[in-house]
Amino acid sequence: MLYTLKGLVLRENVAGDNARYINLLTAERGRLSVLVRGSAKSRGKFTAPTQIFCYSEMVLYEHNGKYTLNDASLIENYFYLCSDFDTMTLGTYVLNAAEYVTSEEQPEEEILRLTLNTLWALSHRRERDLRLIKGAFELRLAALAGFAPNLVCCQGCGCGVGEDRLHLNVMEGTLLCEKCVDRFQKEVYMENDILVDENRTAQIILPLDPAVVLAMQYALYVQPNKLFSFTLAQELIPQFSHACEKYLENHVDHHFQVLDMLTFS
Ligand SMILES: [Zn+2]
Repeated sequence: MLYTLKGLVLRENVAGDNARYINLLTAERGRLSVLVRGSAKSRGKFTAPTQIFCYSEMVLYEHNGKYTLNDASLIENYFYLCSDFDTMTLGTYVLNAAEYVTSEEQPEEEILRLTLNTLWALSHRRERDLRLIKGAFELRLAALAGFAPNLVCCQGCGCGVGEDRLHLNVMEGTLLCEKCVDRFQKEVYMENDILVDENRTAQIILPLDPAVVLAMQYALYVQPNKLFSFTLAQELIPQFSHACEKYLENHVDHHFQVLDMLTFS
């Protein structure tokens, strides 16, 4: 059976002297592993559209659930990311995270769109701080993967975002205001310096500036094509980036090692 699909190449793995496997992210069938015949050295005609960071139209032959590439043509490549080390590292992180949260043979249209939009934003960032793009991607990806937090108001008393600091309860995906977090913290007890609840589950409570909460609300609730159209005071950007990263990592229960290569934090 032949299928024509558009897919983003997430990863390439050598499979012997004369073949490679590529991992694709597609809207219709989610993540797919595809065999590409021809050696990487010989630079066959499929080399360009099947490299990492390429979004291509591919004709796939499927037999017993295994896919082999029959034809490919490039739609867009994001090689421009590779002109800067941190941008390339973040681009790799975006691919790794999208790969980690998606499944095989499950439609993943929204995650594919988010991933392509993020790669585009990273390659056309101009003066935009990379950490804003990173954080917005992380929070949105967590939400699309089924872990959307409720950032509308304080979970304890229902108050909205005002001038006071708020607190993100990472694992609950909820906000607590300054008053409610005190009450909440009396109900938990410390174990080796870690806050734990009555089920002895560790609690991760991150204090957040109200402007950071507003930026997180924006990233969570805005329409997809406006996702990166926001700014934040320079001194608050690390807090935003850190909170979004911790939120994604703790919900998918995975640390993406490529992040350790970034030259900023
Ligand atoms: Zn409250």
